[in-house]
Parts: sequence; C-alpha cells; structure tokens
Amino acid sequence: MSDKLVMAVNAGSSSLKYKLYRLEGLEVVCGGLVDRIGHEDGIFKLTYNGETTKEVLPIMDHHKGVDLILNALTSKGIVKDKNDIVAIGHRVVQGGKYFSKSALFDADTEKKIADLTPLDPLHAPAHLMGYHAFKEAIPGAVAIAVFDTAYHQTMEEEDYLFPIPYELSEKYDCRRYGAHGTSHRYLAEKALATYLKDKKDTKIITCHLGSGSSLAAIHNGKVVATSMGLTPLGGVMMGTRSGDLDPSVSYYLAEQMHLSNQEVYDLLNKKSGFLGVTGLSNDTRDVEGGYLKGDKRCIIASHLFARRVADYIGQYFVRLGGVDLIIFSAGIGENSAFYRKLVLDRVKDALHIVIDEKKNEEAFGGKEELISAPESAVKVAVIPTDEEKMIASDAVKAYEGKL
Ligand code: ADP
Repeated sequence: MSDKLVMAVNAGSSSLKYKLYRLEGLEVVCGGLVDRIGHEDGIFKLTYNGETTKEVLPIMDHHKGVDLILNALTSKGIVKDKNDIVAIGHRVVQGGKYFSKSALFDADTEKKIADLTPLDPLHAPAHLMGYHAFKEAIPGAVAIAVFDTAYHQTMEEEDYLFPIPYELSEKYDCRRYGAHGTSHRYLAEKALATYLKDKKDTKIITCHLGSGSSLAAIHNGKVVATSMGLTPLGGVMMGTRSGDLDPSVSYYLAEQMHLSNQEVYDLLNKKSGFLGVTGLSNDTRDVEGGYLKGDKRCIIASHLFARRVADYIGQYFVRLGGVDLIIFSAGIGENSAFYRKLVLDRVKDALHIVIDEKKNEEAFGGKEELISAPESAVKVAVIPTDEEKMIASDAVKAYEGKL
C-alpha cells in the first residue's frame, strides 16, 4: 500500500481542525484540533488509534498550530515524512459567485477568497491563514479549496435572488448562496448510490440539522433550492440563530433597544434560536430534556423548530414536484429520534409518509438507517454526514488531475 496521505483542514480564526486519510481508500488515519490560537494557553488535540492526547501550550498563530500537528505526526511515527501528505483540502465557507466546485488553491483562488471577505469577515481571513501555514510547511502538496456554497450554485435566479433593487443585488452580490453545501453534496451522492440507484428522475430533500441547520432540494443531483441565505443566518431556526424573520424585526428591535446594526446582528446570530427561545441552552439534548419535564419554553422552542423544518420540507416538496427521499443528518438529524418525529409528524399526512418507529428510535450515534416503513410513499433515511471525507476526496481528485 502507498504511504501517500491526504488531509482535510478546517481553519477558523482561533481554531484549526484536521483529519488525515490514506490516499488509497480514504481510510482515516488520525485527526484532531488546534484550539485557542492566539493564546498562551492554546490547546492541541490529536486522536489516533482511539486515544486522544491533549496539550496546553502557547499557540500564537496558525503557523505554530500547523507545526505542532506535523511534528506530532512524525514524532509519534504516524507519518514517516510530512511530504507524504501529498494533497490538502481546505474548507472555505464562502465561495460567492466565483466557485461552483472545488478549486485549486492558487493565487487566483486566494485573491477571490480575499475579495469575498465582506461576505464572510470572520472566516475568509482565517481560511487564508490556514492555507498559508500549510503551504509553507509542505510546499509540494497539492492544495484545494472546498467551498460550503459551491454545491448550491446550480440554483436559478428565481431561487437565489432577493426581491431588493436589482442593481443592488448586482453591485453588492447580495443574494442567496446557502451553506453546508459539502454536506448536502455528500448526502445526495450517498443517497443516489444507495437508495435511488436505478431511478432516472430523482428528487431528494436533505435536512442537515445540527447547531447550524439547513435544507436543500436536490433534483437529479443538482441543488434547486436551499434554506440558508446570504449568510448562514437565513433559513430554519438553529441553536443560536433565528433563521428567517420578517426583516423589520431587525429595525424594530434596534429602535426599541437602541442597538447598533452589529448588536442586532449578534442578537440574531448568537442569542436567538433554541438558546433565545428556551433561555436555557442551544443544545437540543438539553431542550429535549426540558420538553420531557414539561418546561413551557422548551416545548415551544421545539415546536418552532419542527414547524420551520416541516414548512421547508413542504415548500421543497412542491418545488421538486414530489420527493423520493428525505434525509436527516448532522447532530440533531443523526441522533434525535425525538426531533425527527416532531418534524415528520407535521408532514406525514400531506406526503403519505409512514415511519417505522422502532427504526427511528434505533438510528443514532453514526448509524445509517432507512426509517420509513415499506408502505411509505416517500423514503426517509438517516445518513451520517462526512464533510471532511468529501473534502479529502476532492483533494485526491485534484492530486490525480481529475478535479
Ligand atoms: P456543528 O457541526 O454545526 O457544530 P453538529 O452537527 O455536530 O453541529 O450538531 C451539534 C448539535 O446537535 C448539538 O448542539 C445538539 O443540539 C445536537 N445533538 C447532538 N447530539 C444529539 C443527541 N444525541 N440528541 C439530540 N441532539 C443532539
């Protein structure tokens, strides 16, 4: 077997997640996290052979973080030589109008990502720091950028434009881009190969429900609509994000509370959703617990969430002219029979869905499961997502010149 390796990297402003795979067969070798970058008490974690080690030490920048990773890999004998890592896939949140698929990380890609900073001021500079740190450490590795927005670029104008003055949409590229595209693509590809192999005209609704949540309507493998908007704030209610609102909510709260634009934006991004409605937690495990104890706000938050997800499913059912398969994925979608049931109870009569309750209860902890009964008019599946694997797989394609 070749020693060649491929790495998936997710660089944020103060953290860097990494996962290393064998190039052949994409078997996971190890993975981990550099956290609290920029701090004296930075954290370096590595999980290998089921064991996680953690070190606390100064990690003042992304370069130091990358050095730590590569030194640990070689000193522990996980990797013989850092140059065995021949391809690196970098997750990039915003690809704007420029990228409809993954791209080689060259000077042109770098410039476009930098140009997109106004659309994603938090992540774009961090992605570039991660890219530079790895490029310096392993200059010979093929680097690619894998965009959260790329898979949604097949949407038509009527699905991505906002009804604001057209010249503003054009001038500021102010439109729907969506997010979680790498996850939606992974789920659709898996579903097409597993459940809809012999079908010609395929209609899938993917529900990525985690701390951030989004849905996509996918026709013959191409996205026709997705719920997140200009940024990941749009769409369904989430852990701390409000999702879609009447836009005048921003104006009204700013006026009433004497808040700045930034403060209202933070309120809707960080203090709303499950956290805001329950006043308790952004984590649905806590909210479900509160619901079962009869906590009024946990009950209403759960119903708000289920209603919004169900409404999108209904909308996408119409948008696709039917649906063959609904997929649940990510933290909530993969683990919570409770929230899946809350959602499905709201669409099952209209869509003639019959759920196998036992299978629904059994689907958690990374298990893939068809949870609809054989007589259901629409198949419903729980499929664990794997964005890192998708990133690594694109990096391998780039290495082989097949991107
Ligand atoms: P992200 O990758 O966006 O951080 P995840 O997809 O990992 O998010 O989802 C994390 C969320 O999933 C948690 O905040 C929690 O709300 C939910 N979650 C995770 N495990 C469970 C579970 N066993 N039951 C219910 N909800 C869960």
